[in-house]
Amino acid sequence: MTDIDEPTNFIQQIINDDLEAGRVTNIVTRFPPEPNGFLHIGHAKSICLNFGLANQYKGKCNLRFDDTNPEKEDQAYVDAIIKDVRWLGYDWVGEPCYASNYFDQLYLWAITLVNDNKAYVCELDSQAMRELRGTLTQAGTNSPFRERPAAESLALLESMRVGEIAEGAMTLRAKIDMSSANINLRDPVLYRIKKMAHQRTGDKWNIYPSYDFAHGQEDAIEGVSHSICTLEFAANRPLYDWFTANLPLPSIPHQYEFGRLKLNYTITSKRKLKQLVDDKHVSGWDDPRMPTISGLRRRGVSARSIRNFCDSLAVAKTDGIVDVAQFEHFIRDDLNSNAARAMCVLKPLLVTLSNYSEQEYAQIDVKNHPNRDDMGTRTLTFGDQFYIDQSDFSEDVSLSRKKFKRLVIGDYVRLRGAFIVRADDVVKNTADEIVEVIASLVPDTVGKDAPEGIKARGVIHWVDACSAVDCTVNLYDRLFNQADPDRGEQHFLDHLNPDSLTVVNGCKAEASLAGSIAGDHYQFEREGYFTRDIDQIENVIFNCTIGLRDNWKA
Ligand code: ATP
Ligand code: MG
Repeated sequence: MTDIDEPTNFIQQIINDDLEAGRVTNIVTRFPPEPNGFLHIGHAKSICLNFGLANQYKGKCNLRFDDTNPEKEDQAYVDAIIKDVRWLGYDWVGEPCYASNYFDQLYLWAITLVNDNKAYVCELDSQAMRELRGTLTQAGTNSPFRERPAAESLALLESMRVGEIAEGAMTLRAKIDMSSANINLRDPVLYRIKKMAHQRTGDKWNIYPSYDFAHGQEDAIEGVSHSICTLEFAANRPLYDWFTANLPLPSIPHQYEFGRLKLNYTITSKRKLKQLVDDKHVSGWDDPRMPTISGLRRRGVSARSIRNFCDSLAVAKTDGIVDVAQFEHFIRDDLNSNAARAMCVLKPLLVTLSNYSEQEYAQIDVKNHPNRDDMGTRTLTFGDQFYIDQSDFSEDVSLSRKKFKRLVIGDYVRLRGAFIVRADDVVKNTADEIVEVIASLVPDTVGKDAPEGIKARGVIHWVDACSAVDCTVNLYDRLFNQADPDRGEQHFLDHLNPDSLTVVNGCKAEASLAGSIAGDHYQFEREGYFTRDIDQIENVIFNCTIGLRDNWKA
């Protein structure tokens, strides 16, 4: 037992105990999404847990599509899920698994149960079935079809399969116990009729297995040793175990439940996220405001920060709400260490140097990261005109140096990585707006202290006018303006933040950013963290991943 780490959560403890007792020798987990939407940050917790355990114990984790409900599923979701899991940094052996690969075997097991007098075809419609199911405090009532002979059920099941029975007219149900305290055991449905093509099996099936009948059996076929799901399935576990006890399965898997990830200010329900997409409240599943993996990626959140965040979460037997600021901390922390620095002016104001001369014409080398020499340097062009941000200039000479550490008429400021300059004059348009600042440069101040008698108020960012790249910057705020958009009287859509997207056109980025690609991470000095957007048809667009500091803090 020397090669097993100290457990950090109860699932590792269970695995360690199983290994020690010899109950299992090989750790096999799975991540089982239903392909009915894109993955979100909640799924990331499950992915990191399942793939993480497989890596830790040198076992394996299957990506398995739980594609038992063709009504809501789509190949496009399958493709997106594969891409997202890979992007998060995880892989699986061979092809992904699919519940639909096992439809033949599941059907044979259904026949086994009928033959063993443990399942029957029931002709109650869904409403009658609900009425006879009873309540939490009241036992259910047996279906009038419960005791029909196995041969009759078998013949009907076959008719259901080949499409001879109308949808809703019959189901196959397990014969367990209508008076069980656990409603899941009151003769649950194993198969329902859906005369619908499946994205993988085509027209072959007219019946599809229920989640409960499929899931544990899929685990058994794949030799899953620890089937980890979220807490809401705890009440399904006795049913999971009933199947493993009553079917000749190739292995006996066990189910364990942990708390779902819930984040405040965030929706983590595929159904509701789909509604945001379908109703066009966002531009798509990968809109950078979405808590989907693809949205976070497009926003510029790194896979590493998602993994770090997920690893920081308690794997517990209770649901808790995590503050989104905790996630943002990991996003910022990773970008601070790993994002290259660059300069981009969001609201440009032109500055022209009156004393610029050719010999001062400069190619200035600057570091890409203040603390990381391994990230190298880049060369900035410095000419007689450059842009600064409008908010970094003021004509108000009474502004104190302490309050306004930027450029003021008659005073000095340092341009990041470059010269010290002094503002001398302004040019205004007919509307009395400042359109240009006339300034002078203090020679020989790149990488050097200011000469005697000159003191820069502060350091501001700038972009060379001649080589600047025109770009658009998307600034984001939280999609919901309420910590708990999903609860209470109002509909979650009523809590959409109307200001969650601000598009800033006419920005000026340094020339090196022309070659950036989506997935590169930058800190735009003094502005925040950014990445190039994937939509580059007409314009150079950057998405703001996150600000330098948490503006939501009280
Ligand atoms: P949703 O409610 O968003 O549709 P789901 O549970 O129906 O979620 P699945 O595709 O069935 O979505 O989920 C695949 C796996 O991810 C399951 O094992 C599920 O338990 C897990 N999972 C889903 N949401 C979360 C979450 N918020 N936190 C942790 N695990 C989750
Ligand atoms: Mg589900």
